[in-house]
Amino acid sequence: MKTFPMFLRMAGRRVVIAGGGEQAAQKARLVLKTEARLVLLAGALDDELSALVAAGRAEQDEGTPTPESFAGAALVFIATGCTERDAALAAMARAAGAVVNVVDQPELCDAFTPSIVDRDPLVVAIGTEGAAPVLARQVKTRMEEMLEPRLGEFVAMAGRMREAVARQVPPRARRAFWRWAFSDAPRRLHATGAEREAARVLKQAIAEGGAPGERGEGLISLVGAGPGARDLLTLRAVQRLQEADVIFYDRLVDPDVLELARRDAERVFVGKEVGACAWPQERIDAVIVAAARKGQRVVRLKSGDPGVFGRATEELAAARALGLTVEIVPGVTAASAAGAAMGRSLTERGETDRLVLATGTCRDGDAAPDWGAICIPGTTLALYMGVRKACEIQHSLLAAGVPAASEVEIVCSVSTPQERHVACRLGALAATIAEQEVSNPAIIFVRHPKTRIEPLAATPPARLAAVG
Ligand code: SAH
Repeated sequence: MKTFPMFLRMAGRRVVIAGGGEQAAQKARLVLKTEARLVLLAGALDDELSALVAAGRAEQDEGTPTPESFAGAALVFIATGCTERDAALAAMARAAGAVVNVVDQPELCDAFTPSIVDRDPLVVAIGTEGAAPVLARQVKTRMEEMLEPRLGEFVAMAGRMREAVARQVPPRARRAFWRWAFSDAPRRLHATGAEREAARVLKQAIAEGGAPGERGEGLISLVGAGPGARDLLTLRAVQRLQEADVIFYDRLVDPDVLELARRDAERVFVGKEVGACAWPQERIDAVIVAAARKGQRVVRLKSGDPGVFGRATEELAAARALGLTVEIVPGVTAASAAGAAMGRSLTERGETDRLVLATGTCRDGDAAPDWGAICIPGTTLALYMGVRKACEIQHSLLAAGVPAASEVEIVCSVSTPQERHVACRLGALAATIAEQEVSNPAIIFVRHPKTRIEPLAATPPARLAAVG
C-alpha cells in the first residue's frame, strides 16, 4: 500500500481550493459535506462558487497566491484547470507544508480523494491508488446498489441509541442486537419508509434487553464439572455457571457444584436414575437447543470432562445443526482425579509411557473393546464404566497375555465424601469387586509396566484389602 486510508475530523479546519471553475466546484462540494472552513483562492469564481461565498459557506481569497495563502491549511486542492499553473501552485503549497491534491495529476498529489459511497455517517471510500479508476467506479456502483439510499439516516438513528444499548443490553447480547438491527426488521422497516416503526422496534428490543429471539442466543456451554469436588472446577466453568439461565445436569454432578450457579438459574436434572433411562440422549439434545433458541444461556453440566465418554458429540451436532454457537469448557476427568487421589502419576518414565482411557461399557450391539490389545507392556489402562464388566475385562486382559499379577487399583467416587480405594491384582479383579462390593462411579486402573511383574505368590494379603 503506497497510501494510507484514513478519515479526518474536519470541523473548523482550513481547506484551500485554488481555482474558481467547475473543477474547483467539484472539490468544494466534497469539502462542504464536512464542517471545514473553505477558502477559495481565485480572482474570479463561477456562479456556483460565488453563491457559496455569498451564502457565507466559503471565503474568497482574491490575492495573488503566495506560500502565505496556504499557511495552516489542513488540505489544499489545486484545481485551476491549467496544467502549468496547477504544477506551480502545487509546489508553492507543498513548500508551505500543506498536504496537496492536484486534480487529474496523480504524480503531483500527496493525497488522493477516493470514490465515495455516501450514506453519512456511513461512508465507503474506494481507492485504487490511481491504478484502476474504472474498477473503483464499478465497485462504487455495486455498493450504491447494496446500500439503500436512506441507510445513512438509519445508521445515525442507531448511533443515537448506542448509549441506551450500552445501558440496557447486557454485553453478551450486544453483538447479536446490532446484527439484528442492521440485518433484520429495523433496517428493513426503515428502508421502506417506516422510520417510526423501525425506531419503535429498536427501542422495544433495547427495553427488553436484546434482539427478539436472540437475547444472548448462540452460546451453549458443555461444561466439565470435574469428578465431584467443587474446587476441582475450572474458573471458566464457574463463570459459565454464574452466567447461565438454565443448567442441565447429570447424575454424577455433585449438588455442591450447582450451588455455584446464580440463585435464579433454572436447574434441570437430565441424568439417568439407577437402572431407568429417564432422559434419552435425543431428548437432552432437543431441550438444550430449544432453551438456547429461546434466548437462554445454556449450561450443559457434565461430570469430569465433557469430551471424555460424555456424549458431547451429539450435543455439539444438535447445536451446530441449528447454527447455535456451542463451546466445550474442559473439566478434570475422573482418571486424572483418581490418579491424584492415589498420589501417583499415571505415567512413569521407563515403566508406563502410555495412558489409555477406555470404556468398559459400550453401546448395545457394539463389539466390546479389545482391552488386551490396548494394554501392551508400558501401559496404564484407565477403565471408565468398567465395574459391571469386570469379569469380561479380566478375562480379555489375561487372554491377551497381561500378567495376572499386574497391579489394579480401583478408585470409587473420587473427590467426594464417599471416595474409596481398592487394590488387587488382575487375576482377582472380578472377585475383589464382588467381595468389596465396589460400586459405580469407579475408575479401574490396570498397570502393565515394561519391567517384569512380581509373581502372584509374592502378593502380600494386605494389598487385597480395601483402603480408605
Ligand atoms: N466425562 C466423565 C466420564 C463420564 S462416564 C469424565 O471425564 O470423568 C462415567 C464414568 O466416569 C463412571 O462410570 C466412572 O467410571 C467415571 N467417573 C465419573 N466420576 C467419577 C468419580 N467421581 N470417581 C470415579 N469415577 C468416576
